[in-house]
Amino acid sequence: MAKDFENMTLEQMRQGLDSGGFSSVELTKHFLKVSKEKNGGLNAYLEIYDDALAAAEEADKRIQKGDIAPLTGIPIALKDNILVTGKKASAGSKILEEYVSSYDAFVTKKLKEAGTPILGRTNLDEFAMGSSTENSAYGVVKNPHDKDRVAGGSSGGSAAVVASGGAPASLGSDTGGSIREPASFCGIVGLKPTYGSVSRSGLIALGSSLDVIGPFGKTVKDCEIVFDAIKGADVKDSTTIEKATYPTPEVKQKMTIGVPKGFVEEGVSSDVLECFERTLRDLEKNGHTIKHIELPYMKYSLAAYYIIMPAEASTNLARFDGMRYGLQEEGSDLLEVYKKSRAKGFGEETRRRILLGTYVLSSGYYDAYYGRATAVRKMISDEFAHAFKTVDAIAMPTAPTPAFKIGEKADPVSMYLADIFTVPANIAGIPGISVPAGFAERGGIKLPVGVQLLAPHNGEGVLFKLGTEIENCS
Ligand code: GLN
Repeated sequence: MAKDFENMTLEQMRQGLDSGGFSSVELTKHFLKVSKEKNGGLNAYLEIYDDALAAAEEADKRIQKGDIAPLTGIPIALKDNILVTGKKASAGSKILEEYVSSYDAFVTKKLKEAGTPILGRTNLDEFAMGSSTENSAYGVVKNPHDKDRVAGGSSGGSAAVVASGGAPASLGSDTGGSIREPASFCGIVGLKPTYGSVSRSGLIALGSSLDVIGPFGKTVKDCEIVFDAIKGADVKDSTTIEKATYPTPEVKQKMTIGVPKGFVEEGVSSDVLECFERTLRDLEKNGHTIKHIELPYMKYSLAAYYIIMPAEASTNLARFDGMRYGLQEEGSDLLEVYKKSRAKGFGEETRRRILLGTYVLSSGYYDAYYGRATAVRKMISDEFAHAFKTVDAIAMPTAPTPAFKIGEKADPVSMYLADIFTVPANIAGIPGISVPAGFAERGGIKLPVGVQLLAPHNGEGVLFKLGTEIENCS
């Protein structure tokens, strides 16, 4: 078998490993080498783990014995907010620069049990707050297609390592779009699974009612394989769902796909819209029905998100007080230690959200902001549930534009708008996938554009089927 590791799918890697075409050590060495070569220019990895080779040796022994899981011996990279025992976990923040994890996240444990070598930890916006990794305390991740542009965020590192051939697949987390938007910007596939289908145990929390871990891959099938390997109920995360919680939507041969037309057309680049419309025509040619639908509450998703997420973030980040984890500054009393440690350890966007979140939760404002936002959240969720009575999936662009220039979005609100199409799925807890659907040219460079599909809870199967069809058209 030719060893074109960079262009191999996970299934081809599985076949090559199992038939003795190559070893996990060989495969892992290749990805470590490419990661090291490319990282100087991209800043996608915060740390590359040479001890992935020891795990690869173990995996080779397992393969020889026939003790094989779908990911045995296939290395992957993890976003640096997912814990790995004995490894640093910074969450892209100065406050956790020297923090070393004492346990494995649920997903890490699952991957280790499957015999998956871990290639390294990838760069992200501080505490996953952002859409470009410009909020990382360790510098921006550059887009492999154009180094003057961002790779997206917050899981920009995880997207860039896959897009640049530094890992066959990776994990990210998605609170408001942090898997789908970077996947779109980097020209790969990214899945935000149903909330609760993957345990959050060992994920450094941002917005606990919104966060979910999910995969990046070169193909839809690759994402499906990784998702299958990491999903499942966990006693350490009581929000994980047993399959029975939601009925699994049927994966029909011919589906009805809803398009919220009015919502989609506002503020979207014309070439992104062209890619989107071409994709709809391709799906129609395949025998699916495109139906225009109205989702009038969806436009309030971003407003509700920027109340709920900071509220949860401010609560979750209270634990980083200079006493229990990470960076500690000297102070004359406890309050001064808190103040100095947090002022030094947190970046601007993190401080902004802590302030916002604390404000909307404070007595006197709680009902006006947090209470109202959660009521809006319920209306949006109900609206999706209602829509899914007549459509099997919903299609939208992943982001309004292709990857933007580093430094281009200087004010926070213009950055927040990058997530206008991705946030609704987190608000409702439903799954979403971004699949490459063409290119938009900027300054003579072809930049990837993604299309997003949404399905009802547990409807990942629907996304995989339609996503594969889109992949085969483009
Ligand atoms: N960009 C969004 C934010 O800044 C989403 C982040 C995410 O999904 N982690 O909150």
